[in-house]
Amino acid sequence: MFRFQEDKEKVIVGTCADNENAMGMIPQEIIDQILDRIDIVEVISGYIPVKKAGRNFKANCPFHDEKTPSFVISPDKQIYHCFGCSAGGNAIRFIMEYENTGFREAIEGLAARAGVKIPDDRKPGGEGASIASKLYDINKLAADFYHNYLRSDKGKRALDYLKKRGFNSETLSKFKVGFAPEAWDSLRKHCEGKKIPVELLRKAGLTILSEKGKGDYDRFRNRIIFPIFNERGHVVGFGGRVLDDSLPKYINTPETIIYSKSNVLYGLNFSKIGIREKSCAVIVEGYMDVVMPFQYDVTNLVATSGTALTPGQVSMLKKYTGTAVMVFDSDQAGESASLRGLDVLIEKGMNVKIATLPKGEDPDSFVRNNEPGAFYGVIDNAKGLFEYKLDVLIQRLGERNIGGIVDEMLPTITKVDNAVVQSDYLRRLAERLGVHEASLRHEMGKVKPDYSYHYETEEKPDKKSYNYKNSELHLLGLAVLDKKLFLRMREELAPGEFQDSSIKKIIDVVGELFDKGEDRINPGKLLSRFQQDEPAREALVKALAKAEITQDPGKALIDCIFCVRKENKEDKLKGLTLRLKKAQESSDDAEVKKLLVEINKLHKEKVV
Ligand SMILES: [Zn+2]
Repeated sequence: MFRFQEDKEKVIVGTCADNENAMGMIPQEIIDQILDRIDIVEVISGYIPVKKAGRNFKANCPFHDEKTPSFVISPDKQIYHCFGCSAGGNAIRFIMEYENTGFREAIEGLAARAGVKIPDDRKPGGEGASIASKLYDINKLAADFYHNYLRSDKGKRALDYLKKRGFNSETLSKFKVGFAPEAWDSLRKHCEGKKIPVELLRKAGLTILSEKGKGDYDRFRNRIIFPIFNERGHVVGFGGRVLDDSLPKYINTPETIIYSKSNVLYGLNFSKIGIREKSCAVIVEGYMDVVMPFQYDVTNLVATSGTALTPGQVSMLKKYTGTAVMVFDSDQAGESASLRGLDVLIEKGMNVKIATLPKGEDPDSFVRNNEPGAFYGVIDNAKGLFEYKLDVLIQRLGERNIGGIVDEMLPTITKVDNAVVQSDYLRRLAERLGVHEASLRHEMGKVKPDYSYHYETEEKPDKKSYNYKNSELHLLGLAVLDKKLFLRMREELAPGEFQDSSIKKIIDVVGELFDKGEDRINPGKLLSRFQQDEPAREALVKALAKAEITQDPGKALIDCIFCVRKENKEDKLKGLTLRLKKAQESSDDAEVKKLLVEINKLHKEKVV
């Protein structure tokens, strides 16, 4: 991790193009060293339960919903692969995907584990560091600044306010609560003293460029500051709350390179252990609703920070638990917006419950005003989503408005992907409303899948899948895993005979390694060479998965070589035929004659 030093060095602002993964900076030898010293089974089993299955290990895939394991970890190859959703890669990739983090962060964690030191040749705040890592560091610096200010004499007013609200010292330290001074330029000046360019402060959302041309001013002033941590505990943004009743009550960091409010759950870095232990995540609304109950030992809470729950947030939670309890205060309880938000949870296969607090209470006030443990009582009494929603609708629309109730309930029921549960819901709804189940089923058939609910932010589009030729992929996998097969393949096929440029690239690298005298290739290490080359990385993962389930590799290799040649011949024929057609259309007799000769020749050629 780089530090800002107060040296004379001119600080250069990097470009956005050098993203967080900023590969190149860590030498391949170091990456190889790290991968040599760790074991992928050990790494993955630190996150999810794995079971031995023959030479390999199996697990329920953490990247898609499944009940029978199709996630395979190979200790020989040091890679994992899911036959269900095609996720796959080496230990670095697993951490990047599971922790939702960048390459550098993933490799730093593994390096620490392996006891390998990553040489840090980056200049402080300089070109070498990626913009993202600079913003992490600046945010940390700002969080320290606000926290120290709160602890200083000048922060006494804010500290008194927080103490009066019930915060103890330990809690303030744990959550790094701070206070932003009233002046317009406190943070800016503090950072200027540390030679941090104001452009970076602006990129972090900490300052705003004045429209009057007076430079930047601090975004957060005279506010209690809650640093927002990501899952890994890095400060990605801030929430600032007023000390009185003035408005707006909260201001937040805008979207930045490292902060997107729809992909952060406040408190998750602290509560992920609690969530896993209690097999339940409690979802609340604001920062205080997380921090205060935490002080009272309720340690499995997260907050959405004022947004409706997004699919990205639900995916994050699903890594830790399949059950979520939404805590509503009595004002929210009947709002259709909060009800619709629940459909995201259902769609993602979560078991959803609703807990309602007494009138006038929120989680923050509730834990302060009640016996310890009372909050857990509320959670334990949470109602199932189905009952809850039905009760609210009956209350709101009246028992007789069957049409209205059915219109609201059916879209939710269609989202349940377990047929047994769905059927049970339908039966109960029919019973409760005194209608025939068959007519509900009939109505359900008409429900449009898109419903009226729209996510606030769209989920990332499905990862693009590249079109590789099966035979080329299979050949690649076989050749990587066995030097003899590789040499055999190289005898039979010229590099030009591979059509896919990614596969060609990998074969070149493998060839170099074997030529250098390696007898066996560690696929996990090989993968790390293509960490930033998505088409190549995906090709390699798929290729290895194919080779893994091959019974007779020697014979398969011959078959694949035959297929590659045959496909090449067919492709060539297709191309020639197309050109022939064009030549005929433009009555280019000479060209037609030439092409016909070529086509004939190719037809006679035998593929062996
Ligand atoms: Zn999967």
